[in-house]
Amino acid sequence: MKNALSLPFASDHCFIGGVWREGALSDRLPLLDPSTAQPLCEIARGSTADIDAAVAAAKVAHEGPWGRSTALERGRVLAKLGQLILEHTEQLARLEACDVGKPLTQARADALALARYLEFYAGAADKIHGETLPYLDGYTVYTLREPHGVTGHIIPWNYPMQIIGRSVGAALTMGNTCVLKPAEQACLTALMFAELARQAGLPDGVLNVVPGLGEEAGAALAAHPQINHISFTGSVSVGAKIQAGAAPNIVPVTLELGGKSPQLIFDDADIDAAIPFLINAGIQNAGQTCSASSRLLVQRGVYVQVVEKLSARYSALRVGPALEDFDVGPLISQAQQALVESFIAQASDLAAPVRGAITDHASNNGFYFAPALYTDVPAGHILAQQEIFGPVQVVIPFDDEQQAVDIANGTDFGLVASVWSAHGGRQMRLAKALKAGQIFINNYGAGGGVELPFGGIGKSGHGREKGFEALYGFSTLKTVAAHHG
Ligand code: NAP
Ligand code: MG
Repeated sequence: MKNALSLPFASDHCFIGGVWREGALSDRLPLLDPSTAQPLCEIARGSTADIDAAVAAAKVAHEGPWGRSTALERGRVLAKLGQLILEHTEQLARLEACDVGKPLTQARADALALARYLEFYAGAADKIHGETLPYLDGYTVYTLREPHGVTGHIIPWNYPMQIIGRSVGAALTMGNTCVLKPAEQACLTALMFAELARQAGLPDGVLNVVPGLGEEAGAALAAHPQINHISFTGSVSVGAKIQAGAAPNIVPVTLELGGKSPQLIFDDADIDAAIPFLINAGIQNAGQTCSASSRLLVQRGVYVQVVEKLSARYSALRVGPALEDFDVGPLISQAQQALVESFIAQASDLAAPVRGAITDHASNNGFYFAPALYTDVPAGHILAQQEIFGPVQVVIPFDDEQQAVDIANGTDFGLVASVWSAHGGRQMRLAKALKAGQIFINNYGAGGGVELPFGGIGKSGHGREKGFEALYGFSTLKTVAAHHG
């Protein structure tokens, strides 16, 4: 099964019950290369009937050998899959670069992160366990960690590989089976992942992939009565719909939503160490990162110095096609480009931003946007409050620690925050005072670190993925109390 991209799978098929098969509707959706706006290939428009078939296959697989598999057996399959991902790093990276518009270096990092998730979870499979609990005389009490059963995974287009690693990887580790609905704009690496899982020997039906539209395949999956757990990564508005769709079934829902993550730079910070983190956290994947740092809060004593250094770097940023690996690639779609431009149009009250430059390598049809750095931005400005999901950063001055905390905590979101300061007491105080699921001190890891639990508070969502914490989320706890006298 080959097509123009030389894919080792049928890109316009669904993967259900261990086989590649046409969607029930036989309808197709075009997949575009954001660097050129040219069609890459077609994908299946998965329907309710395909979701039904995928959930049924996953249920059978869960009731079969996979549901009874040992942790050792699951760990071995995941390790083999991780190895196959490593062997296909370059192919996966190129697919992602073409599909998402992600500069090749960043796409390679995502493929390696996917392999790392599988390595981490393969090693964790037989190291997570229940406990024995003290209780009354004459009893032995212990807990068992058991899989939920069939898990649904609805993911966005911005980091398909990383998000598959952290959600599907953890779900499989605990013995769940999975139905994955990737985003309509980018799903080639999700399909490639299914093919590599097949080659690694993952039993039929344990992983099923149904591409398609959110309102069709996604909504059908979220509300399916035989799904036992839903993991969603995406926007706040769709997250609310997913939670409402799953509510009648009373199943746990993990929501990984957006952010407006701040970095706080104090007068005593190592400015030169901070600058690359301040910028990369805003422009990585063209700012289309849930944990992008879009707000830079800078204390007055170093404000001028920081703005000068940021501006110098910003004006040197180059934007171009993903495969040519410039600093910044295109945005995912024309709609996303229009959305980001609409924010710029609402910033005419601010000083003109410092912009990077779109190179002449960039096709006129591609969805390019020159990164923009705004300075002296009031904390309540729309650019400082709403998630833009493009390479736009705002710099906000502050006077003292309390004001910095108030500004940092002054949005609806709480995903990531970082503190740049040499003062140990301040680092510890702010780690407690800042409202976010992850705090970095003198660094910033936009989603990085498979070992580190990740997730939000407030409108950034609930539940934790990554690390061991994800394994608790993808399992349910049973307490056994035995009376033996
Ligand atoms: P999105 O529109 O919320 O879409 C995410 C996924 O949900 C896609 O697969 C989408 O399918 C599907 N979907 C859309 N409508 C649906 C519905 N009614 N029922 C069920 N599924 C539905 O988000 P996006 O535009 O792809 O991504 C951008 C947003 O995601 C940003 O807000 C960003 O912050 C957030 N995000 C968060 C994280 C995190 O880890 N916290 C990571 C990445 C992105 P289609 O696209 O095929 O319609
Ligand atoms: Mg695409």
